[in-house]
Amino acid sequence: MEGYSNHIAIIGAGISGLALGIILQRNKIPCVIFEKSEKISEYGAGISISPNGLAVLDNLDVINDLKLLSRQPELAIFFSNNNQINQISVDVLTTTRKSLYKVLLDKYYALNGEIHFSHKVVDINKETKTLKFDEKSIHVKHIVACDGIRSLCQKKVSAKFNDPKYSGYYVWRTIFPSDQDNIHFHLGSNFHVVAYPVDSERSSLVAAVKSSNQSNESWKQKGSIQNLISEIPAAILENYPSIMENYGVYKWGVFLRPNVKILFDNNITYVGDAAHPIVPFIGQGACLALEDSYVLGNLITKHKDNLEIAQTKYNKLRINRVRSIYTKSLNQGKLNHLKNPLLVFLRNILMKYTNIISSQTKSIWFYDVTNEKDL
Ligand SMILES: Cc1cc2nc3c(=O)[nH]c(=O)nc-3n(C[C@H](O)[C@H](O)[C@H](O)COP(=O)(O)OP(=O)(O)OC[C@H]3O[C@@H](n4cnc5c(N)ncnc54)[C@H](O)[C@@H]3O)c2cc1C
Repeated sequence: MEGYSNHIAIIGAGISGLALGIILQRNKIPCVIFEKSEKISEYGAGISISPNGLAVLDNLDVINDLKLLSRQPELAIFFSNNNQINQISVDVLTTTRKSLYKVLLDKYYALNGEIHFSHKVVDINKETKTLKFDEKSIHVKHIVACDGIRSLCQKKVSAKFNDPKYSGYYVWRTIFPSDQDNIHFHLGSNFHVVAYPVDSERSSLVAAVKSSNQSNESWKQKGSIQNLISEIPAAILENYPSIMENYGVYKWGVFLRPNVKILFDNNITYVGDAAHPIVPFIGQGACLALEDSYVLGNLITKHKDNLEIAQTKYNKLRINRVRSIYTKSLNQGKLNHLKNPLLVFLRNILMKYTNIISSQTKSIWFYDVTNEKDL
């Protein structure tokens, strides 16, 4: 592992790291990815990609392969206390995290991309652009932190990355056999449930529960089906009978970090969750990670001889959008779990008789980063 002083080092082979690697590799910018896991993670669940993320996947030329492994539901149907309030047409792709990783990794390899699994970055020197692993150190041209929500890169070098605080929500998730066609949102006073198909045979169910009992922030923490059943009304879960057969349930504590102020620090640029961790209530984390990677990859290509310009332009193009989606995600969590019956009634009336849902999603979903004229 030598000779990387002319390379962009990408830390993390998640959604943002692989997307960035594809853009740099196809533009012939030397890059290398370091990933702490032995292989692409099996953990996780379903993921829904809205048109803003799909535009990037199309540009990366992975969309057709992903469609073969995924579903494209036509409707999102909203329920409150198991009664349907409204339904809207949607243009999203629903899939598993594993399928998304697979098509991105295949594309990166097809472009002869270099990736080192089992390479956990344990320290970083942002002045000398040095990455430290357990047994060696390397010097690189620039560091891009794509190391996710608990970014070591942020912790090691940025004092501003405060310890996260438990949000008061945890999220159950499971994937189970199902022939469901559309997306279902169930709103309740201290929970909401989202279920959607992820391929031709299975659906994903995610149940966010408001609770003061703190849970770990971990993809790998298992939960029990009995506990999930005890926290969500039976009338809702009866719509998804096969989850009772217990295909593996995971529990993820949702933690809050402060809204991001700047997306780079000296010779490190932050992308995706490492830059701006958000709560998962509007399903935008992966979509933002794809948008970030598209912008940064093209700016690095354009300004390869002066990466400070690339960093400044990246920050300018991205900061307002990621900050506003951070706030919208938090607010959505509150709206989903209203308790006061009057407020619930008003919310349901608004959802039923106005186009509030479509107009809320419009500004998020119908931004096409691939049309940005400054790239
Ligand atoms: C329950 C839940 C549901 C969600 N649903 C959606 C959804 O429907 N739609 C959506 O758009 N988003 C969704 N998200 C958010 C989305 O999953 C994340 O925003 C997205 O994965 C972020 O991508 P990333 O590349 O920044 O990080 P990740 O995909 O997490 O990748 C980070 C990578 O870095 C590696 N790594 C970490 N530390 C190191 C280190 N020190 N050295 C080397 N490698 C390292 C990790 O192993 C990992 O491979 C959801 C999140 C949750 C919790």
